[in-house]
Amino acid sequence: MQSNVQRNVHVIGAGISGLSVAVRLANAGYKVHVHEATQQAGGRCRSYFDAATNLTIDNGNHLLLSGNRHALAYARSIGTEAGLVGPGRAQFPFIDLATGKRWQLDLGDGRLPLWVFDKARRVPDTSLSDYLALSPLIWASPGKLVGDTIPCKGTLYDRLVQPLLLAALNVDPPEGSAGLAGAIVRETLLAGGQACRPLIAREGLSAVLVDPAVKLLQDKGASVQFGHELRALGMVGSNVSELKFGDEAIVLGPSDAVVMAVPPRAAASLLPGLKTPAKFRAIVNAHFRFDPPEGQPAILGVVGGLVEWLFAFPGRLSVTISNGDRLVDMPREELAQAIWRDICQAAGVEGDLPPWQIVRERRATFEATPEQNALRPGTVTAYKNLFLAGDWTDTGLPATIEGSVRSGDRAADRVLAMRQA
Ligand SMILES: Cc1cc2nc3c(=O)[nH]c(=O)nc-3n(C[C@H](O)[C@H](O)[C@H](O)COP(=O)(O)OP(=O)(O)OC[C@H]3O[C@@H](n4cnc5c(N)ncnc54)[C@H](O)[C@@H]3O)c2cc1C
Repeated sequence: MQSNVQRNVHVIGAGISGLSVAVRLANAGYKVHVHEATQQAGGRCRSYFDAATNLTIDNGNHLLLSGNRHALAYARSIGTEAGLVGPGRAQFPFIDLATGKRWQLDLGDGRLPLWVFDKARRVPDTSLSDYLALSPLIWASPGKLVGDTIPCKGTLYDRLVQPLLLAALNVDPPEGSAGLAGAIVRETLLAGGQACRPLIAREGLSAVLVDPAVKLLQDKGASVQFGHELRALGMVGSNVSELKFGDEAIVLGPSDAVVMAVPPRAAASLLPGLKTPAKFRAIVNAHFRFDPPEGQPAILGVVGGLVEWLFAFPGRLSVTISNGDRLVDMPREELAQAIWRDICQAAGVEGDLPPWQIVRERRATFEATPEQNALRPGTVTAYKNLFLAGDWTDTGLPATIEGSVRSGDRAADRVLAMRQA
């Protein structure tokens, strides 16, 4: 039976998954309480002022695609969909630093991947049969390796498959889960250019994806508490009965729910016995205070160098390097110089190293291998009023914003279903 009493839901963690659950449930009339351990919302997707470059930068350049429907619906729900900007067509310029060759992949704007039939629009020096050889990936099982499913060599691999899967999986593609790679291919390349338009939060991740959500929550009467780390859960029978935050505890009512949207290590320590991915990979981002040259594309794919993607923002050039564990201990200045050399070649600019910042997120994503993917839990736990969210839960996708929001939506659905129970 439905009751008119306003139900409480406690969301632990104010990353994208936690914020997406919180927004959904606040809009559904719940009394939402968000508890975030740090002083800032956004988790692994946030902006901050950086004194070295004197700019507000993002912890990492985040790329969304127009087919990321959960992420776009989340942005719409907080009124910032227009803040995700990109070209009108799914066009991806590339450069190979080893040869200096430039090309543009043009995925068009349709619902079908018809571009593979057009020699002028596909990757240069590739044939239709190269693309057909990727088909085993489409419905591959998550337990299989990419390297055992498709050819991981050749021109198409070097110029498209490797950059795409490296960015999506954050592991060297052959060691990645073919099932996760297949999900990416189904939702992007196979869904035509309409699903592949690149989108960037040009005004910054926090301005577009985080702060407006916190404001909406506060306007709806939700509480968002920072520096409020959940230390332990109290259980009675098959329910969570208490949330313990150091010197303060919150006792839950019989119809209250909890969504834990924290990273896997925190979740495992709060819920002993929970199986979670335990291996992670780094992503390295470098930001340079430098006006992009005239005509520099917003996103440039780079192969044959250290840099993988070059992003142009007003007054700033930024790069992303995935699977970056090999770079986490490299001296910062040396790394900045090496990256700047690649940028000069890719963007056709020159000059001494401008003001720069390097952000190395050591645990950027769980390792998208079959082994780690098998450790991802679902939304439901052994406790009736406790649900999980996060990019590392079993979303069917690698660790992405789209996966985070999807996990948040699933958790919100479960909380809403409790009302009907
Ligand atoms: C450098 C980098 C680049 C990336 N690039 C892309 C990209 O291009 N495209 C894309 O789609 N995705 C990208 N991602 C992935 C994306 O950022 C993540 O998938 C997403 O932000 C994860 O959100 P989340 O809410 O699941 O987890 P998190 O962001 O980790 O949020 C968890 C929150 O829980 C809080 N917390 C932890 N313990 C507690 C506790 N005990 N009590 C209360 N709070 C707690 C944390 O402080 C944190 O705020 C990138 C990630 C990184 C790091």
